[in-house]
Amino acid sequence: MNTAAPLTRARRIVVKVGSALLVDQASGQVNRPWLETLVEDLLRLRARNQEVVLVSSGAIALGRRELKLPAGALQLEQSQAAAAVGQITLAHIYKELLAPSGITVAQVLLTLEDSERRRRYLNARATLTSLLDLGALPVINENDTVATTEIRYGDNDRLAARVAQMTSADCLLLLSDVAGLYTADPNLDSSARLIPEVREITPEIEAMGGRSASAVGSGGMATKIAAAKIATSAGCAMAIAAGAPMHPVRRIEEGAACSWFLPASNPENARKQWIAGALRPSGALSIDAGAQNALRSGKSLLPAGVTAVSGRFERGDTVSVLDPAGVEIARGMIAYNDRDAARLVGKRSADIEALLGFRGRSEMIHRDDLVMMQ
Ligand code: GLU
Repeated sequence: MNTAAPLTRARRIVVKVGSALLVDQASGQVNRPWLETLVEDLLRLRARNQEVVLVSSGAIALGRRELKLPAGALQLEQSQAAAAVGQITLAHIYKELLAPSGITVAQVLLTLEDSERRRRYLNARATLTSLLDLGALPVINENDTVATTEIRYGDNDRLAARVAQMTSADCLLLLSDVAGLYTADPNLDSSARLIPEVREITPEIEAMGGRSASAVGSGGMATKIAAAKIATSAGCAMAIAAGAPMHPVRRIEEGAACSWFLPASNPENARKQWIAGALRPSGALSIDAGAQNALRSGKSLLPAGVTAVSGRFERGDTVSVLDPAGVEIARGMIAYNDRDAARLVGKRSADIEALLGFRGRSEMIHRDDLVMMQ
């Protein structure tokens, strides 16, 4: 097997670049010649009809220089100030580098809650999906400026994995200053070997995730392994690969040594397993026979097919879907709270705005958020 198959076959790819690559350590400025080759690689993926999401660190590293902050660890407020400044530079350079290809760049700044709270998860996911549908290239970073310690990812490795999960990506590349996962720290142990493929994240694999040598970014190997767990359980293959060489993505395609973490199942199954198994339904929707047939043929659940709503739930909670005989046939993450769902019972999607006073989603439960139970 071509070792890069998870990349070459992927439909949607999240590429994460670390600060240590993006920002030249000596000058504190964007490493532009390198970044140009990364952008060329991303364009290549897009030219093959692969969708690309970029998660880019670097805001703090760029901003700290502009603010003339001292070397060494920054206090949270200092990092936040640095991020506010550096993010502008970062967004600007991506826009500039992609402009000649006519590609629209979209900046999305996320906080931890945007992926952990279901309502916000749905919103963030809808935004990212729309951007991809519109052909834009989302460039994502943590919203460091407002994220306090309790609500921070703190590293872009896990942020990137959540983004991969959120967008149902099938490939995540963590481009880093390490070439992959080693059996021991290669800086200290000359017998250290790179592990090309991990099919299961065992305690032994986790134990190999000591701190990486990077001084610029905040993610070590431990956060990369944590990212691998998130990505693979969402059905997404993840690679930890050396990002520093020119054309870092093309190199992976060409078979450069890196570590692949392979998922057990495809993304859809993983999310559906999560909906089916991990969450307790907070309410139920009864549906008519027409809607039942629609669900069986893989369609979304529209308000028109719903006959009754019970239970207390918020948008994004998991609810049961009951057939006309009251049997639970599906579960899904609902796009409305119980009050709004009750108002939409039996109504056409076109009337949602008139009924609720805001433009909600056309589907009560989108098929991507729905799992058949029998
Ligand atoms: N969000 C941070 C930044 O843009 C980087 C976090 C990380 O390096 O993982 O500066």
